[in-house]
Amino acid sequence: MDQRGNVSICTRRSEKTNGIKRGRVEESIVLKRKRSNDADCDKFEDLLAKYQEIDTQSMKMMKKVPQIVLGRYVIDTWYPSPYPTMFYPENKLYICENCLSYTSTQRFLKHHQANECPRNKNSPPGARIYYEKPSKTADGLALFEIDGKMDTTFAQNLCLLAKLFMDQKTLYFDVALFHFFVLYRHDKDGYHIVGYFSKEKLSPENYNLSCIVILPPYQRHGYGSLLISISYEISKYHGQVGTPERPLSTHGRAAYVEYWKYTILNEISIPKCKLSVEQLSHRTGIMPQDITDVLLSCNIVRSISIVDQCIINGSCRKVQAQYQALRPLRLCNSRLFSWKKSSAKPNGMKS
Ligand SMILES: [Zn+2]
Repeated sequence: MDQRGNVSICTRRSEKTNGIKRGRVEESIVLKRKRSNDADCDKFEDLLAKYQEIDTQSMKMMKKVPQIVLGRYVIDTWYPSPYPTMFYPENKLYICENCLSYTSTQRFLKHHQANECPRNKNSPPGARIYYEKPSKTADGLALFEIDGKMDTTFAQNLCLLAKLFMDQKTLYFDVALFHFFVLYRHDKDGYHIVGYFSKEKLSPENYNLSCIVILPPYQRHGYGSLLISISYEISKYHGQVGTPERPLSTHGRAAYVEYWKYTILNEISIPKCKLSVEQLSHRTGIMPQDITDVLLSCNIVRSISIVDQCIINGSCRKVQAQYQALRPLRLCNSRLFSWKKSSAKPNGMKS
């Protein structure tokens, strides 16, 4: 998903192969543990194991769509996704770029777009909360925030599309609990979907990103780091610090470590700059523990106990040398957000 070719991050929810059933069973176990004994919990563990078995079988039965046609691109897919097999008898699935509905032939797709598409000639669903104007050398970039409860069908279709490029993603239908932040390229022909990230509406752990996907035609353009930076900008807007949902995939962790390192060193490498971890967290929206991990891995500090009270000196040679060696990342411009249109609420608040 970043310029090195990493594509997707799947997180805690990725372990679930049926977001609705398993989510409810796990929730039941937690509630049960609060008021019952271990024997009752064992029954629920058995139930959970049963669902896991069903999920595993479902994954095995899921077929792989060989190719999709999306806008101007024909894209080879990577992983199975639960699209109905009747929709791709010709080994190609035709997806409407506007509403992400799918059909089996080019002719049906044209008919849909001419007569039925709910988004045709309109902008994407949701509210546009970020926009980079086009330049002589680049298309415009737009980010739309979509409420899974309000635009359910679009959000479900988005998850089905994402699964084609994610090994472990498993949220398809239980989308009401999430906001989806969808990135588009914008040109004279309209909006072209680039990728997205999802965010739980309620997260006591302050998770600010659940899943992130950049579609293959748009990889290696820095859109992954752009979306990660947007997730932190949203946290900062709500006066919070955030962190991605755990566990992170290998690629996801690498992308985040690169982002954290770049952002933190960018803040502290200014000569004579002296900041505490808490101040850094406030400035970047990055959770203190993530900052601590990066400082330790960079050998900027030597132990966690020191970090807690540590004032990091940006003038030190170690900081300057590591910052100079970094590859620049593509980040969002905080001045280009239209926050008034955003419906996202801070983590833990009702939406
Ligand atoms: Zn459509």
